[in-house]
Amino acid sequence: MQNKTIIVGAGTAGLILASELASKGIDVEVFEADKEIGQHADKASGILSIEGLKLLGIDYSDAVVNSLKGAIVYGRKEAMSLNAKKLMAYVLDRKLLAKILYREAVAAGADVRLGHRLGRKEIIELGNESIIVGADGAVSNVASAFDFPKIQKYILTYKAEYENATIPDSSSVELFFSGGSKRFFGWTAPYSKSTLEIGIGEWMGERRDSYSLFSEFIKTPKINVEIENARRSKGLASLIPISPRKKTVKKNVLLVGDAAGQVKATTGGGIIFGALCAKTAAECIINNINKGTPLSNYERLWRKRYGVDLALHAQLHRYYSTLGSRGIDMMIKMSRTFGIDRFLEEHGDMDRPSLIIKRFFYKNSVR
Ligand SMILES: Cc1cc2nc3c(=O)[nH]c(=O)nc-3n(C[C@H](O)[C@H](O)[C@H](O)COP(=O)(O)OP(=O)(O)OC[C@H]3O[C@@H](n4cnc5c(N)ncnc54)[C@H](O)[C@@H]3O)c2cc1C
Repeated sequence: MQNKTIIVGAGTAGLILASELASKGIDVEVFEADKEIGQHADKASGILSIEGLKLLGIDYSDAVVNSLKGAIVYGRKEAMSLNAKKLMAYVLDRKLLAKILYREAVAAGADVRLGHRLGRKEIIELGNESIIVGADGAVSNVASAFDFPKIQKYILTYKAEYENATIPDSSSVELFFSGGSKRFFGWTAPYSKSTLEIGIGEWMGERRDSYSLFSEFIKTPKINVEIENARRSKGLASLIPISPRKKTVKKNVLLVGDAAGQVKATTGGGIIFGALCAKTAAECIINNINKGTPLSNYERLWRKRYGVDLALHAQLHRYYSTLGSRGIDMMIKMSRTFGIDRFLEEHGDMDRPSLIIKRFFYKNSVR
C-alpha cells in the first residue's frame, strides 16, 4: 500500500487537497507547471456563493474584491431582475485566493514544486510508487495517461477586463442567453464600482471563433455598463468542462476538480464543487493510508454528496440549450408571471438546485 500522495496541479482543488492531507500528517508532494502560483488565474472569474465558501472552511477574506446581491437575466426581448435581500456571492481576486491556499498548504507541510510540468511518462512512473491525484484542470494529462473516460462536453470561453467603466449597479451581474442559432451565453461581472469583466461562453461544436462572438457581444445595446472610454485588458480564451467523467478513480489514481469535470453546467462555476470533492478525496486517501479502506470509496462518496446537484445543473443546462430565443423569452416571462423570480430572491441557492426544490415543496406544503 502506498503512503505518499503526489498531486498534479496547484489550482484550487489541488491546493485544498494538499492542505487537508498534509495537516493530517500525510506525505504530500504537489507538482505545478506554472512558475508562479495563480499565474493563469486571470483566465477565469471568481464569483463564489457565500454559502459555498462557508462549506470550504478557508479564510478567503483578504481576496474579496466585491459583493453581489443580484442578477439581471436577459433573453432576446424579455428580462428578469433578481435582487436578493441578503448578499449572495463574493467576487474574489483569483490570484490572491491561489496565494492564500498555497500558503496554507505549505504551512500544513505540503511540498509544492513550482515550474514542474509533468509529462505522461513521469506521471505513469510516479503512479507506480504513490497515490496520484490529477488536479490538473480541464485538459488533464493524468486522465489521459491512465486512460480515464473522456469528458463529453466543454464550454469555450472568452473574456476581458475593463477598467474605468461606468457601472450603474456594481452589486449585480448581468447574464445574457441568446438561444436561436448562435446558442451562447454572455455575462458582465463587476469587480468594483468601475472595473468589470465581460465574457461569453459557447457550447463547443457550435462555433469555433469565440473572439468574434465576444466582439459581437460587447456591442449588444442591452449591456447596462458603459465601456466606450474604459481600458481593456488582453482577452483570454479558456475551456470549461461541463460533464463529469464516467469514472474518476482507477486503482491508486484519482481525479478532482476540473480534471474530473466536477463543474456546474449552468454557469461553468467549478471552484466550490471541485474543492468539496477535493476534501472528499482527502478523506478517502487518509482512510486508505491509515485504515486500508479502498480508494474507490471516493467515486461513491463524491457522487452521493454532490452528484445530484451536479446532475440537476446538467439537466437545466440541457434544457435551456435546446431552447430557441423565443423559448428563452417564454421561460423568463413565465418565471415573472408565476413569481419564480421572487421565490429565487428569497430561497435561491447558487450551487444546490436540490435545496431550492426542497424549499419550494416545503413552502407549498406548510401553507
Ligand atoms: C472564463 C471562466 C470563468 C470562470 N468563472 C468562475 C467563477 O466565477 N466561479 C467558479 O467557481 N468557477 C469559475 N470558473 C471555473 C473555475 O475557474 C475552475 O472550475 C477551477 O479553476 C478549477 O480548479 P482546478 O484546481 O480543478 O483546476 P485549475 O484551476 O485549472 O488548476 C489546474 C492546475 O494544474 C496545473 N497543471 C496542468 N497540467 C499540469 C501538468 N502536467 N503538470 C503540472 N501541473 C499541471 C495548471 O498549471 C493549473 O495551475 C471559470 C472558468 C473560466 C474559464
